Amino acid sequence: PAPHRIQDRNVVDAVEVGAKLAGLANGTLDFENTPDTDPDLPGNRAWGREIVNKMVGSTLGADSVAAALIHTEDELNKVVETAVAASDSWVAMGAVARAAILHRAGVTLEARRAELLEVMGSECGKTLDQGDPEVSEAIDFAHYYAQRGLELDSVEGATFVPSKLTVVTPPWNFPVAIPAGSTLSALAAGSSVIIKPAGQAARSGAVMIEALWEAGVPRDVLQMVQLSERDLGTELVSHPAVDRLILTGGYETAELFRSFRKDLPMLAETSGKNALIITPNADLDLAAKDLAASAFGHAGQKCSAASLVVLVGSAAESKRFHNQLIDAARSLKVGYPQDPQTQMGPVIEAAQGKLLRGLTVLGEGEKWVLEPKQLDDSGKLWSPGVRSGVKRGSEFHLTEYFGPILGVMTAETLEEAVAIVNDIDYGLTSGLHSLDSDEMAYWLENIQAGNLYINRGTTGAIVQRQPFGGWKKSAIGAGTKAGGPNYLVGMGSWEDAPLAK
Ligand code: GLU
Repeated sequence: PAPHRIQDRNVVDAVEVGAKLAGLANGTLDFENTPDTDPDLPGNRAWGREIVNKMVGSTLGADSVAAALIHTEDELNKVVETAVAASDSWVAMGAVARAAILHRAGVTLEARRAELLEVMGSECGKTLDQGDPEVSEAIDFAHYYAQRGLELDSVEGATFVPSKLTVVTPPWNFPVAIPAGSTLSALAAGSSVIIKPAGQAARSGAVMIEALWEAGVPRDVLQMVQLSERDLGTELVSHPAVDRLILTGGYETAELFRSFRKDLPMLAETSGKNALIITPNADLDLAAKDLAASAFGHAGQKCSAASLVVLVGSAAESKRFHNQLIDAARSLKVGYPQDPQTQMGPVIEAAQGKLLRGLTVLGEGEKWVLEPKQLDDSGKLWSPGVRSGVKRGSEFHLTEYFGPILGVMTAETLEEAVAIVNDIDYGLTSGLHSLDSDEMAYWLENIQAGNLYINRGTTGAIVQRQPFGGWKKSAIGAGTKAGGPNYLVGMGSWEDAPLAK
């Protein structure tokens, strides 16, 4: 495997796509979500190749995604039956043959890098600098899980029995890497997969899936559906033949899915409200840069984003740090990804509810250091915001907003800062900027989060090097991490359950 590809930017592709996107910035790209409720569109258990090719050839024809639309319970049952029937042959093929196909998926995904960047940009507002490493992450998953699948099969004295049918319900914020990672992990373990990409990201998911088919994953083993009604989602998740669910999304969504079928094994990566603690012993220049990237990358729409900074002691008084942070945020060029100059893209859903409140309403004692501004009528383009004076226990302290807003808190000591962070129900990522080894040790020992980063931003986990997964209300399931050595173990059962070293 090539574990650290995510750092190798494919500059040539990115430049080409930039030019292509700029050329298309004349309104031909559709920023609206794929319609997934059009009753006139034909139901189909999975797409035919012609349809996918048509989509690819015609740059995002929406009706092609809609062709995967399921309207009735009967259609859904057929999809499920086909997937279950296909799982035996997928297992019988053996880990070596499956690994060969998944390694090949790394190659077919790479071949579609430009296309993936284009569709992620148009559909999910991904700028090239965000989308390019995401494609690399998907490729990393293919090679990494291929390898881990081989190991599963070679554990002495224990037989791994994969789930027969895994349902994957990914989010729209990482429209390629998350669906790819979830799907590839289940496939590597020997399970069939039905994937239902987020409605907002259906075309990105579709191009990814086509790359996997092209690599040799049988179409009955990997099927994509869109559901015409919410009830069908309930039907799918609660179908007795489904024996595993991999979900990435909000905590409430995971709870809802769990309520459909309590006995269904679920691997869920859920919400986050992540903080970066900065002490007076930090390299403050580096901290300002990492903080801005963690808070505003993909307009803050990452479960891993830093939505709070806790400044310890005199770090709060550094004018230089303050100016650097505000300059970094203010200078971000906000726009749509078709313009290659864009550094921060749109929020995907026009701001409303919680997010709109976060962008516009201050809590008691808070003030805008940089007030977010709505930049067009769509409700999707917002300049980044920074609020100071966030109080312990306040709404902003404890709520996930999923947008480009950062709250500044202060603490007298590192101990207090850690307590402030641990007050939060979630525990996905957490960051410390400090060059003091005692502070690092204290923080590592006491902070409650799944992914801990020292002197680095809180986003952009790397397959194998930084397996990704949460603690507290940020995760439900086996407690294993995506892109880590034990993740596939969660895709089935053992007689004896060994954990990889
Ligand atoms: N794995 C991503 C990261 O490390 C975050 C994924 C998510 O937002 O769910 O930034």
